[in-house]
Amino acid sequence: MSPAGTPAGSPAGTPAGTPAGLADLVVVGSGIVGLGAAYAAARRGLSVIVVDRADAPVGATIRNFGHLCIGAQAGEARRYADASRDLWLRLSRDAGFWLRESGTLVAARHADEVAVLEHAAAEGGIRMLETDELLRLAPLRAEGLVGGAHIETDLQTDPRAAASAIVRHLSHLGVEFRFRTAVTAVSGGRVDTTRGAITAGAVVVAVNHDIDQLLPEVAERVGVVRCALDMMRAAVTLRHPLAAPLLTGWSLVRYGRFADGPATAALRERLHAERPDLAALDLNQMYTQLPDGTLIIGDSHSTSTAPDPFQPEAAFAAFLAEAEALFDMPAPRVLERWQGVYAKAAQDFLIDRGDEGVLVLAATTGIGMTTGLGLAEENLTAAFGWAPAMEGSS
Ligand SMILES: Cc1cc2nc3c(=O)[nH]c(=O)nc-3n(C[C@H](O)[C@H](O)[C@H](O)COP(=O)(O)OP(=O)(O)OC[C@H]3O[C@@H](n4cnc5c(N)ncnc54)[C@H](O)[C@@H]3O)c2cc1C
Repeated sequence: MSPAGTPAGSPAGTPAGTPAGLADLVVVGSGIVGLGAAYAAARRGLSVIVVDRADAPVGATIRNFGHLCIGAQAGEARRYADASRDLWLRLSRDAGFWLRESGTLVAARHADEVAVLEHAAAEGGIRMLETDELLRLAPLRAEGLVGGAHIETDLQTDPRAAASAIVRHLSHLGVEFRFRTAVTAVSGGRVDTTRGAITAGAVVVAVNHDIDQLLPEVAERVGVVRCALDMMRAAVTLRHPLAAPLLTGWSLVRYGRFADGPATAALRERLHAERPDLAALDLNQMYTQLPDGTLIIGDSHSTSTAPDPFQPEAAFAAFLAEAEALFDMPAPRVLERWQGVYAKAAQDFLIDRGDEGVLVLAATTGIGMTTGLGLAEENLTAAFGWAPAMEGSS
């Protein structure tokens, strides 16, 4: 084995001067799933090269809410989310980025939302809130609120700061990053890139929705399409900070922990009947406040193989109107608008063993920030027969 992060040599046939190399693990994609794979390997003393065609993580990993919504997951997603929670806490401490153990707040504006929350709270990890307590934690308008809840295990980070801090930390651990380098083909033991071939002991492909370009047969077999989301960040004047990420009834109908059962079906039916305009946006009305006080506001969902790059203003107008109706604040001042995209399929995760030594991983619904680190840790360990990592301060 070569020292961690040191390309041990150039494969035969690589032109002189072309960066190529050799690593125990080559990771394609520097989003949270790829970073999770690199972290799992580096903690086991393996040499790792991460290849990304962009010059930094620029995909879904920096475009989301930074909401690690662990307690809203169920089943396999909850298992990955719980594993991710430990890894997020460790990375935040060792890589030195902002992350808070805030839990998540849910604002209920109708008895059917309270009913869904109470049903879930009976299983533990969710505390029901009276309206007064919710108002002390979230600077909302009192009118229309009927109660709420606090999901206790959840975390919040700033996705842009976290991704770049993790890249720096992994570099210090010896992981080599090759940015502005596209991977053009992957097979057992070899990764072809626009800057030469890399010989790999094992390969993890973590390219999110772009799996349909790199490995179209995998994407087609699993039915991966793209889900495009509108997002915005705004300067706001609140009477006090938002103590945690804030979900609404529109969120409850989406997350695994809440999404099944007759109470949720009734909630979905009412929301869609009352607000077909918001239902047409496939809205998840939710908010996170960053340490600088600005508010991330979102989001809409539109699914296709090739999303339209042109974002209709109607979605942003709806975001602002709904934010002003919910929060006790003057009109927000929009600072940024963007589109994010993630892979979507019938199952929540794509875990595919293709060629010998190649593992394809993706969250195929919008929970990769919450689950991606654990998804990588668990599946790399299983696929490559790794021993548990030596856990020190790394
Ligand atoms: C708007 C939005 C909001 C969201 N909110 C949340 C949230 O609050 N909580 C949550 O848990 N999840 C959320 N998600 C989902 C989450 O962000 C994603 O599931 C997760 O970030 C996906 O990580 P990834 O590493 O798979 O992909 P990405 O972060 O997209 O990274 C993939 C990388 O692969 C690279 N790549 C692609 N093809 C190639 C190639 N051929 N060669 C080299 N490099 C390549 C790309 O350049 C990119 O950097 C949200 C997503 C969006 C879009």
